[in-house]
Amino acid sequence: MTYDTITIFDTTLRDGEQSPGCSMNTAEKLEVAGALVELGVDVIEAGFPIASPGDFEAVQLVSRTYGDRATICGLARCRVEDIDRAWAALEDAEQRRLHVFLATSSIHREFKLKMDKSQIVAAAVEMVSRAAGYCDDVEFSPEDAARTELDFLCEVVEKAIAAGATTINIPDTVGYATPEQFGAVFGYLKGNVPNIEQSVLSAHCHNDLGLAVANSLAAVAEGARQVECTINGLGERAGNAALEEIVMAVQTRGDYYGCSTRVNTNKLFPTSRLVSSITGMKVQRNKAIVGQNAFAHEAGIHQHGMLQERTTYEIMRPEDVGFVGTNLVLGKHSGRHAFRDRVDQLGYTLDDTVFQTVFEDFITLADKKKEIYDSDIAALIDNRIGEGVDFWKLASLHTSAGTDTIPTATIELQSDDETIRRDAATGDGPVDAVFRALERLTGIDARLEDYEVRSVSKGKDAQGEVLVEIVAGGRHYHGKGISTDIIEASAQSYLKALNKVIADSQAADSQAADSQAADSQD
Ligand SMILES: [Zn+2]
Repeated sequence: MTYDTITIFDTTLRDGEQSPGCSMNTAEKLEVAGALVELGVDVIEAGFPIASPGDFEAVQLVSRTYGDRATICGLARCRVEDIDRAWAALEDAEQRRLHVFLATSSIHREFKLKMDKSQIVAAAVEMVSRAAGYCDDVEFSPEDAARTELDFLCEVVEKAIAAGATTINIPDTVGYATPEQFGAVFGYLKGNVPNIEQSVLSAHCHNDLGLAVANSLAAVAEGARQVECTINGLGERAGNAALEEIVMAVQTRGDYYGCSTRVNTNKLFPTSRLVSSITGMKVQRNKAIVGQNAFAHEAGIHQHGMLQERTTYEIMRPEDVGFVGTNLVLGKHSGRHAFRDRVDQLGYTLDDTVFQTVFEDFITLADKKKEIYDSDIAALIDNRIGEGVDFWKLASLHTSAGTDTIPTATIELQSDDETIRRDAATGDGPVDAVFRALERLTGIDARLEDYEVRSVSKGKDAQGEVLVEIVAGGRHYHGKGISTDIIEASAQSYLKALNKVIADSQAADSQAADSQAADSQD
């Protein structure tokens, strides 16, 4: 049996990034794009270039860096300036796609756009033609398609294809669809749009009713050959369809769907961890495919069955998705070679510099704790990925706390340009004192929104992982730190978040300088 290939269109950097508190800076977007390329997704929607100079820059950088390894896509409304701006951001990519959208449902026509049906069709045709003039890969999305009258949807789709759209994406923008009904929309389009075979049908589902993945799969069963999704189902409100669930459902049930994807499934787990670590959006323990418990068989009767024959209770193997458990793997005497092997097996691709740093961290950790688990290694790697952007590094930390004493923290920071700053502060407890000292040292006034500490693996000597969310200048920032000492991990996580604030203000400064330079050329 020959399987049809489903195009995996990842929109973690566009739709996913829109969710509150999940915004990423350009360096972080580039990091995620690199992971998506390694994962093997077909299309990366890198942003909405007209939305902001930062969005433009990110799409451009992703295009220049990865445009030869995946199709890079930029989003545009049905407006001349949107399409031109998106094209300018994508131009340097070898493989590129313009994605044009326009709402078609009666509620959007009447209240948002104040356009009638004929105006909608005319605008879609004009703007799809404009996009097709730039690029032979054009996607058109009738926004809120799931609530659009079917006959009108057919008319818009037919004319958009005639105008040059090579992919027709059907979004369930508000997460209103149910599987049978959404699947039927695809069947209807196939049966009633005469030129439908000239385009690829795509599904874009939101998870407001918890049906995003089910709806996407129903679309696949009815002929959709592209699915739009995000890592960990990241996205506004209840999120988008989760990439890892779509991919593993199509793979595990290839017998039913008759389809496959080009995704390297053993990279799913590390990519999930990376996105979670960058956005600060945690993955629930029982989340399908990438949750910590997704492969834990606790019931005695299951364990017995598993020992006899794994497939009695296991439909996927943990290694198929690059799952990182708490297997005891390495100790102090494991050499560089064994460590490199393990890193590869865990699905990470590290350049030599990062590898060397992580290896040194591993040696330091092996001095502090006897047993090192996969989850420890994954935490060490996550901690070092993307850290090149940090302005301040923690040089030293001393705290004193206890009963009958005022909690105090003394901290020394070293900057990129070797400047050393020292300061101390008191607080309600040692963590509070550390945070106050860091704010004094960096001169940033931040509000702590969330603080969480958890152990990375088993045992009293386990590494502690601290996650913080702060608000500075009205924006949310996340930081993560790990150490066998949770006060140090707290300091690292807070400093990480403060470094992101600094990176943002530096980027804003350089953009302001750029636009001044541009003005002066006029
Ligand atoms: Zn969406």
